[in-house]
Amino acid sequence: MSDNLSPELLALNFCKNPLCADFGSLNTANYSLSTGSQNPQIACIHCHSISPIIWPTELSNEVTEQLEHNNRGLTACTGEDCMNVGLNVQLHPNRYYAFGFSGDKQRYRCKSCQKTVVDRFSVENPNLKTHVTILALLLTGFSLKEIAAKLKIQAKTLNDHIKTMAIICRQKSSVFDHHWQNKGQLFLLGSDWSFLQPKSHNGVLWVCTGDLDSHYIAQQSLNLSEQKITTNHRFIGRDFVASINTAATAPKTKALKDITESLSVAHQERTHRNNPLHNQTQINYPAKSSLVSPIYCTSAHYLQLNQALENKEQVVLSMSFEPMLADAAMLSFNALRQKQSFDLLYQIEDENWLEGKTGSKPQLFKFDGSVEPWSLSEQWHLRGKADQRAICQLVESNLTQKQAHQLPKLSPITQYMARFHAMFKSSVNEPRRKRRPEGLLPLLDIYRAWNNLCHQENPGETPAVNAGISEKPLSLDQLLQ
Ligand SMILES: [Zn+2]
Ligand SMILES: [Zn+2]
Repeated sequence: MSDNLSPELLALNFCKNPLCADFGSLNTANYSLSTGSQNPQIACIHCHSISPIIWPTELSNEVTEQLEHNNRGLTACTGEDCMNVGLNVQLHPNRYYAFGFSGDKQRYRCKSCQKTVVDRFSVENPNLKTHVTILALLLTGFSLKEIAAKLKIQAKTLNDHIKTMAIICRQKSSVFDHHWQNKGQLFLLGSDWSFLQPKSHNGVLWVCTGDLDSHYIAQQSLNLSEQKITTNHRFIGRDFVASINTAATAPKTKALKDITESLSVAHQERTHRNNPLHNQTQINYPAKSSLVSPIYCTSAHYLQLNQALENKEQVVLSMSFEPMLADAAMLSFNALRQKQSFDLLYQIEDENWLEGKTGSKPQLFKFDGSVEPWSLSEQWHLRGKADQRAICQLVESNLTQKQAHQLPKLSPITQYMARFHAMFKSSVNEPRRKRRPEGLLPLLDIYRAWNNLCHQENPGETPAVNAGISEKPLSLDQLLQ
């Protein structure tokens, strides 16, 4: 019964409870809106789940901002309202005219809006040697301070080099991302999240989604914005902290069932289950950038992937047990779900669970306060205890329960993040970076490109090689040229 519930609003705010009869319903009659307070909420009349509203304009602003970051420095049109914005000259040559030179560099003109863009990649990287040295030192764990000292350059010069390297890496990534998106019709994806600087308590989250077959990291997003906070719902105000810090309940045992139950209890203790920042009683707020509400950052993350994959026949997305990821994925991939092309599930398993080995027949399991359909399967060994896997199918289109239990592990995505934290430890944990997290953005762009194109999990095998979009691993020279 809500006059204010427009189709655009409902498209983001429908019921996301998989057990509710009105799950996914876009019928306004099934919802009620509370508008009295500063933070309007929407309730599903059938299952009574209540959520803060996600606002369409603010979400679309978040998508635009994430895209602007990914496209910064690419040889592509920068016209804000142009249909060619962010589209690489290299991948979309028919959208541009060659338009003379700027110095030695080729210049192009956008056929749609006539803006010109200079192709910095049309000449060799004049600092290639320095860039390769810097990357090699970064990858072996040297701090920025140590690298500047070794190369006898100022910190600012080093910083400028790293920013240029990030542009080169984004350019490389944009080409390979394009090939990855066109590699086939079936995508088995995995998502996980982490705090960007786990020891800094600055509220900055890092969300990653990758291909579980090849381990190609397709998308990563941070809830950081260069815009000033306004009264906008997309931002977390500087006064945002929880009044009480509810200590997380430790699992009763190390058994997977108990771990799942304690996570579920922790989610229920949040003010809203899709906000992992709820329990923070202190946030070291970034000095120069604004914190974005996790659900907006994550939805924008998936909306970009949805755009790339919306015509695929089958997309399966496994994720760690985190309602923020699930809610965002449900609203972003809703059209694929309606076409019966989308499966979404939570997946947790013991560390030693063997990928590719069949487990026992999945059994349903419930725990206190569990509202979702979990099932458990086991792999037995000759000696010692069995390894377990727990799955909760949130959206079921094509996968049977048995098939869901045979999916690849999520651990490559989790390890991708852990490896960044380990390799870039000195930068991640540097005290002055606590309130300047945006300084890590160029490192993240470099790290993703390196991981996908150069990092060999087995000899000769990079994620891009495994995805069939690269013939062999790129050397650091090839990555940065
Ligand atoms: Zn409902
Ligand atoms: Zn244009």
